[in-house]
Amino acid sequence: MATHSSFTPEQWRDLWESVCRNLEGAIVSHQFHAWIYPLKWQGVLPVSEIEGQTTYRIQLLSPNDFSSRWVKNHYQTSIEKAFLQLTGCHCELELLVQTAPPNQNQSSLVVGTPLPSIQSEIQSDLGFDRKAEEASLIPTVSLSQGKSSGSFPGDMPDPRYTFDNFVVGSSNQFAHASAVAVADQPAKQYNPLFLYSPPGLGKTHLLHAIGNYLLYKNPKARVAYLSAEKFVNELIDALQHRRMPQFRSKYRDGHDIILIDDIQFIAGKHTSEEEFFHTFNALHSSQRQIVVSSDRPPKEIKDLEERVRTRFEWGLVADIRPPEMETRIAILKTKAERDDIYLPDDVASFLASCIKTNVRELEGILIRLQAQASLTGVEISLEMAKHELGSPVDAESLKLTAETIQAIVAKHYKLKIHELKASTRMKSVALPRQIAMYLVRKHTDLGLKEIGQFFGGKDHTTILHACGKIEASLETHPEIRLAIERIQSLF
Ligand code: ADP
Ligand code: MG
Repeated sequence: MATHSSFTPEQWRDLWESVCRNLEGAIVSHQFHAWIYPLKWQGVLPVSEIEGQTTYRIQLLSPNDFSSRWVKNHYQTSIEKAFLQLTGCHCELELLVQTAPPNQNQSSLVVGTPLPSIQSEIQSDLGFDRKAEEASLIPTVSLSQGKSSGSFPGDMPDPRYTFDNFVVGSSNQFAHASAVAVADQPAKQYNPLFLYSPPGLGKTHLLHAIGNYLLYKNPKARVAYLSAEKFVNELIDALQHRRMPQFRSKYRDGHDIILIDDIQFIAGKHTSEEEFFHTFNALHSSQRQIVVSSDRPPKEIKDLEERVRTRFEWGLVADIRPPEMETRIAILKTKAERDDIYLPDDVASFLASCIKTNVRELEGILIRLQAQASLTGVEISLEMAKHELGSPVDAESLKLTAETIQAIVAKHYKLKIHELKASTRMKSVALPRQIAMYLVRKHTDLGLKEIGQFFGGKDHTTILHACGKIEASLETHPEIRLAIERIQSLF
């Protein structure tokens, strides 16, 4: 059996992948996906040596405290045993909790020695954090990441994310349709496809879904999914080890479609942008598809070179907005069904009414409830959900009223509530008033006449006219749509 010293950092990381595969075969699928899959390889340290036998500390990064405790209680022994079997060495598991928000500069997770000066130069050029150096764990430099956030080993799309299990609603319909069109006919109509949204709304899911669909149609399709961060890390590695020709041929010639997640990560990193620019040109000019995602539209990515920005705007730019209530419920139900979780309707509605702007958080709470249920042997209930959310909220009190909506709209436009109710036709008041009418119609069960009462006794035709007008402007006036989204995010 190999001794530890023959393991490079890369091999340790591969060993972790093997341990994962063993566990995947050994435990129930949804448990694996809930607890083991989110763990990220961090590194390994020798901790003691007794009679020539070294004990190692395996460090894994867990997304939060809860998950860390769960893994410790349920899987620590299995993980340590699996490492022992594969390496012949005693390994202790240490779970670290991710503190930085995901997708920010994750270089502090890099495993490597204090870096030689040439690499430091490259790193600062690429915008890396110096803490990376302090986090060094193993005396061999390797900057390529194993599992970066959301990525599946080997640049392959993650089979868990498909079009089939993506719930479509008005907030993501356009992005979904664009993704399907690209998957159906890559490099034909929309190249590049640029998807953007705040975190947790399904960009990564759609990127994987495109890849999976292509592979489903043609298992030989050369599809790569990677995060922009991985692109940057591989570039550093290639520069450092003088492997640029291989790097270039991998990205410029090796794939028919490249799906790059969180592209905002390259902004301001000059060498990366330069390399990405040439990669983009090579792919685009040879009719190969590029799909990128970002947390904001191209023109809002700070420090992005103009020529790169322009290229993003060549194709189709599609956004995803926070899902509507119905979509949030449908997503919860889909996830519950997939993971075989019993989720009563009242709980689904309650969760969807509390968590509005991030699907990942919705999923997170479902997993927590499932964990609670299996720990206590009690089925998921409304009580449990309220308790788990940490506040004794009464679902009834979460119902929006016309008054609340008026107050939020008035605050947004810095108006007094009575101004919203009055009849002045000044545009600065008339538009907010119409928006408030539209939102009350949309979010309450009130009839047109009743709504009129809340606006100083206006006629039902006035309300109807306002709603129609705002609805039409959602398409034609992006600034109105944005304002409404911002207001709704406060509901
Ligand atoms: P982003 O990349 O925008 O931050 P993700 O694609 O990682 O978001 O989505 C976060 C989680 O929410 C994933 O588990 C994803 O499957 C789920 N999700 C987001 N939108 C949907 C949707 N419309 N239908 C089903 N699941 C969704
Ligand atoms: Mg993502």
